[in-house]
Amino acid sequence: MTPRPRRLHLLRLLPQAWVTTSGPGGRRALYLSFDDGPHPEHTLPLLDLLAAHDARATFFLVGNRVEQHGAVVARIVQAGHTLGNHSYDHPRFEMLPLAEQLAQIDRTDQVLGAYDQRPRHLFRTPRGVLPLPLMTHLVRQRRPIAYWSYDSLDYGRRPAPELIEIARKHPPRDNDIILMHDDSNISLQMLATLIPEWKVRGFRFEALPPA
Ligand SMILES: [Zn+2]
Repeated sequence: MTPRPRRLHLLRLLPQAWVTTSGPGGRRALYLSFDDGPHPEHTLPLLDLLAAHDARATFFLVGNRVEQHGAVVARIVQAGHTLGNHSYDHPRFEMLPLAEQLAQIDRTDQVLGAYDQRPRHLFRTPRGVLPLPLMTHLVRQRRPIAYWSYDSLDYGRRPAPELIEIARKHPPRDNDIILMHDDSNISLQMLATLIPEWKVRGFRFEALPPA
């Protein structure tokens, strides 16, 4: 298992205008990103950890979960993090016609806009699938799909200590966008150890610029 599987290397060959695979920040910037929240139990402790390290991040939220846990979303915005769009109910995009994919995106933009007053948001597809008709449509809107360059592997039911060892063996690099999830406490366990170690290496933690 590696945080940089072959697929990610291939995606980096595509133009950033189609698929965003690295952050804009320059030297020693890392971009933590959290998918599948907000979660009523796991997101708030993560916000506390980030605040303790003066770290900003990007939260790719699921629209119907935003509707259920609005107070958590307000806290994310107050803390200075960026909101991203991760569809309305996390369907399999590759099984949906384009019109329904776009409806998932639009509906979630509206739900998120109530919290950050923005009409559109960075968009990341569920499970990172990249349907060509959708990508073509979004390229025309100058709206790249927000991908990542470094996979924390935190969704694979491996224990945090094992994932921390993998991350130590394959350390992140300048401008990496790091994929994590806040629907379990694995990312919190990993970052409680890794953020201090990465800070020692000179990294700072930034939110992706909003769309
Ligand atoms: Zn997801």
